[in-house]
Amino acid sequence: MRDRIGPFRSEDLTLLYQPLVDARSHAIIGAEALLRLREPGGTLDGPASVIDALTAPEERAVLDWWVLERVCQDARNWPDLRIGMNICTEHVTDPGFAAQALEIVAAEGLPPDQLEIEVVETGIIDDFESARENFVALRAAGIRIAIDDFGTGYSSLSYLARLPVDTIKIDQSFVAALDEVASVAVIQATTAMARALGLKVTAEGVEDAVQAQTLRAFGCHCLQGFHFSRPVPADAFTAMRENRPW
Ligand code: C2E
Ligand code: MG
Ligand code: MG
Repeated sequence: MRDRIGPFRSEDLTLLYQPLVDARSHAIIGAEALLRLREPGGTLDGPASVIDALTAPEERAVLDWWVLERVCQDARNWPDLRIGMNICTEHVTDPGFAAQALEIVAAEGLPPDQLEIEVVETGIIDDFESARENFVALRAAGIRIAIDDFGTGYSSLSYLARLPVDTIKIDQSFVAALDEVASVAVIQATTAMARALGLKVTAEGVEDAVQAQTLRAFGCHCLQGFHFSRPVPADAFTAMRENRPW
């Protein structure tokens, strides 16, 4: 385990988990790991306070490996769930990324099919071929790939069709604007395209029952948002699974 990540002590970092629910049954089918920084008073800061302070790519890579190790350790307690984790944007184009990720997953003893790596589009576009090679190697081992914040970047059909990915995560800004025609058009086009390509669609930022119902009707497979739960510590997530509060 890494002791220091840039200016941070790793013991001051923690991961919260937010449930991913089946759009029809609302059963928990996974979770996303979200980074937090413990402040002296006990409050938790969001991921930007960590990531923005890590100015060198090498430091951000160390963060990603710390997150991966922690996710592997936590996910072993939830063998029936798939856990999503975020990586720093440029890391996915690093030629050694897949090999090192697979080494860590093997060392930690996590079945690779329990892991989904979330990547934002900008990371891919910068060096499409390197990202694609990493995706191919990760998926050959059973790790899933999700495109995060879909709709906010290039959102190009041609790159999606050429990339080995499993899931599209529709950005929460579209969910927040479900009363706007343009937003509905983006969500419907994305789900239609994803289904045609055989991909799963997750909608992020679901905050009420009407949004949940609408997104299900639009063909989203999976929902995530405060309507179900805010991100919680690992032990609280375990408890939530036994006593689903929705
Ligand atoms: P993301 O991967 O798109 O994560 C979803 C964000 O939406 C999370 O913010 C989550 O708390 C928030 N969220 C979830 N449900 C709702 C909702 O219903 N309403 C609203 N308004 N927000 C909701 P968070 O945890 O602040 O993370 C922000 C971003 O920071 C993430 O976006 C991701 O890009 C990045 N991030 C988070 N954890 C990590 C990490 O471990 N490593 C790296 N490299 N990036 C991370
Ligand atoms: Mg994410
Ligand atoms: Mg997102």
